Amino acid sequence: MLFQNLSPVANGLPAALPPKTHPPLRVANRPSAANLVLAALPHKEYQRMLTGLEPVEVTYGQVLYEPAGRIRHVYFPTDCLVSLLTAIDKHRTLEVGMVGNEGMVGMPMALGIGVSAVRALVQGSGTAMRMTAARFRAEFKKNLPLQRALFRYTHLLMAQVSQTAACNRFHTAEARLARWLLMTADRVHADEFRLTHEFLGHMLGVRRVGVTKAAGVLERKKLIDYSRANIRILDRKRLEAAACACYRIVKNLQDSAQA
Ligand SMILES: [Zn+2]
Repeated sequence: MLFQNLSPVANGLPAALPPKTHPPLRVANRPSAANLVLAALPHKEYQRMLTGLEPVEVTYGQVLYEPAGRIRHVYFPTDCLVSLLTAIDKHRTLEVGMVGNEGMVGMPMALGIGVSAVRALVQGSGTAMRMTAARFRAEFKKNLPLQRALFRYTHLLMAQVSQTAACNRFHTAEARLARWLLMTADRVHADEFRLTHEFLGHMLGVRRVGVTKAAGVLERKKLIDYSRANIRILDRKRLEAAACACYRIVKNLQDSAQA
């Protein structure tokens, strides 16, 4: 049974992947990158935000929120990567969104909601700037540029989530794997990550054997190298050609919103 090592938690969803059996996504040569939402703020608002922000290290497998769980902090990733996961039953999860330094984790707070609908799971260890929910609520009310930046990000995240819903239904595992690798590479600013087949299975909603098959197709085309849970993108341009159109659709939206 593929997902048998995931113990159910109180709310009926499988627990986060245990770090011991799933090595962290480690990123080679990762430059420190600023968070783009914070970077979009004018100097005055940015300085005021800084007084309420604290840098925190988040590690692979760490759960920031559970579904229906209270949001105690919002997170602005600088060089970490967070997956938004939903569950279809007690054993299987599926990634419905991915947040890197382009966004914020805890978006319900910007809509006046203090609980999360999804599990937010750290997929790539790194740093984030964190603010308490109470401070964020007060800050958001008076900070117009922050409102504008987060409304724009809400639109982009909704576009990503809805594209992912269609993608999961209509596109092949190898096209989705190629898309997922490109999205990850964009957010961690590296072409090499450490990921197990099982972890990828949870992200893509396919069984481990399905991941092996999909990765094998990409390997034979010399687009990636995948050995000992280490994935390296060998040919980014051709990998993009192998990915479904969903990657480009969401990327173009993001690029135009940030232009
Ligand atoms: Zn797709």
